[in-house]
Amino acid sequence: MRFELPKLEYAVEALAPAIGKETLEFHHGKHFLTYVNNLNGLIEGTKFESADLETIVRESDGAIFNNAGQVLNHDIYFKSFSPSPKSEPSGKLLEAIRKRFGSFGEFKEEFGKAAISLFGSGWAWLYKKDDGSLELSREPNAGNPVHSRTGLPLFCCDVWEHSYYLDYQNRRADYVQNFWKVLDWEKVEERFINNKL
Ligand code: MN
Repeated sequence: MRFELPKLEYAVEALAPAIGKETLEFHHGKHFLTYVNNLNGLIEGTKFESADLETIVRESDGAIFNNAGQVLNHDIYFKSFSPSPKSEPSGKLLEAIRKRFGSFGEFKEEFGKAAISLFGSGWAWLYKKDDGSLELSREPNAGNPVHSRTGLPLFCCDVWEHSYYLDYQNRRADYVQNFWKVLDWEKVEERFINNKL
């Protein structure tokens, strides 16, 4: 088996009540694992057999992309949380947010709107363009800025129902509002400063 399920860097109950224990057990331990297993099966005997994950995400399509995209997206998602994060970004990332969105508050509002209004399943992203500026996107299904070649992913909000249904049922807006309480801005700043995932 080539790819493995990355371990959570916090306990399964650590993000509650924003993201509950049962959600993490299913979302990380079952949904994410299924994408990893599917990807390992699908790339066997193809040109992607020994490629790294980002290359597969960038260059594949169809079922291989769907599963590779979901592996990368969930890896970024689960690595972007902390049980006790600082509530706002600072330094160069904050400067870039103000430059593009006006203020941190306006950024949160725009990102939230993108996440809430995405029809069906998908992801809301903040990414860094080649010129260093920031942009938001909404990507259906397994989409991400690596595959669309728009920039470096900084963080994402998973709005597939499996990411919030056990905690919030149909109330996606409540999930997005509570998502901010566990988003680890230090991780986001690291990606922004180091220019890598
Ligand atoms: Mn998910």
